Amino acid sequence: MAKIKMTTPLVEMDGDEMTRVLWGLIKEELLNPFVELNTEYYDLGLVHRNETNDQVTIDSANATKRLGVAVKCATITPNAARMTEYDLKEMYKSPNGTIRAMLDGTVFRAPIIVKGIEPYVRTWKKPITIARHAYGDVYKASEMKVSGKGKAEIVFTDENGNEQRELIHNFNGAGILQGMHNLEDSIENFAKSCFNFALDTKQDLWFATKDTISKKYDHTFKDIFQEIFDKEYADKFKEAGIEYFYTLIDDAVARVIRSEGGFIWACKNYDGDVMSDMVATAFGSLSMMTSVLVSPHGYYEYEAAHGTVQRHYYKHLKGEETSTNPIATIFAWTGALRKRGEIDKLNDLVDFANKLEKACIKTVEDGKMTKDLALITTDPNPTTLNTQDFIKAVRETLEGLMAN
Ligand code: NAP
Ligand code: MG
Repeated sequence: MAKIKMTTPLVEMDGDEMTRVLWGLIKEELLNPFVELNTEYYDLGLVHRNETNDQVTIDSANATKRLGVAVKCATITPNAARMTEYDLKEMYKSPNGTIRAMLDGTVFRAPIIVKGIEPYVRTWKKPITIARHAYGDVYKASEMKVSGKGKAEIVFTDENGNEQRELIHNFNGAGILQGMHNLEDSIENFAKSCFNFALDTKQDLWFATKDTISKKYDHTFKDIFQEIFDKEYADKFKEAGIEYFYTLIDDAVARVIRSEGGFIWACKNYDGDVMSDMVATAFGSLSMMTSVLVSPHGYYEYEAAHGTVQRHYYKHLKGEETSTNPIATIFAWTGALRKRGEIDKLNDLVDFANKLEKACIKTVEDGKMTKDLALITTDPNPTTLNTQDFIKAVRETLEGLMAN
């Protein structure tokens, strides 16, 4: 069989530890035999980030701006322990944070649904995608403890020195204070990324805040979403047969639990942090969660939601057998290849990406899976495979699908 050709390169961002091992195996067993891979390779492994003073991360983000689509392996975010382990020159920032800041994107996370791995919420039949705004609010707040009687105010001083004041509280005793902000630009970009992603994936978009209590702050989010929707997206949504729906966050939580799934839930920064862990856990497993960064300028970066699976990597280094689930990392590749195929109008590449996803799902549904899934499946008799054998099993299923 002739290999599938690509016309534009993908930005390939390699990473660390067990996911770096998976990366090599996935390319060798599941991609190279079928596709003439055309990638611009950036090694974001911590060793190379350290060698380049993290310039490689910046270069890879710039390449994504140039080429439009990237696939990223999980990477280590350095902490004190990693400083010694890797003898680092400095405690580099999280690559995801650096890339997100440069592409100005919103992160969408969705579970991969497989029969036999049942969500804890019985009504959920389709994935729920969480879109988390990744700028500001409590994550960029200033805080203060006050020890006694006094007046607290918010003061804004404009360029000409004019002051705008708002009383927070007249304290009679000790207390705590917090000041946070967001930017109209950032909220607009968040809204556009959400509307574009809803159109891309043909799913309804829900958005919720606490605008009844926060009449200026949260209400601004609601207003910006509505203005952009009315002006730029209402017709496109109608044409695609999908809807945009705003409600209070309390109401959204209740509706999400009663729903069948199959929509995107846009959340402010804190809500998205909390709700994405809730939704991921309720769907069954972190190892089955995909993640894509969508920029308002139309750049896409695909990855798995989990980390580098450090504990498994140390077993692997000792020569012990591992049973690491590669599915979310495979789906990062299929997401990127399908997007590349759609943009470049390469039907066989799109078809290959769909078949590789189907092969993963079918292999698990046929009872062959890694240990993380074997522990939670409703299949009474699963076959637990190690990392390499599971990838080989997917290869076999894929070959069957490609032959048809
Ligand atoms: P992790 O890599 O997500 O793994 C946490 C635990 O979840 C694992 O020990 C494993 O449980 C289970 N798990 C996660 N993915 C799995 C998979 N594919 N197959 C089977 N089990 C899986 O988180 P971590 O160990 O806390 O973090 C390790 C490193 O990843 C850190 O240096 C962190 O900075 C980095 N990280 C990177 C990203 C990213 O690049 N996007 C995201 C998060 C964390 P058991 O050990 O019980 O089997
Ligand atoms: Mg969290």
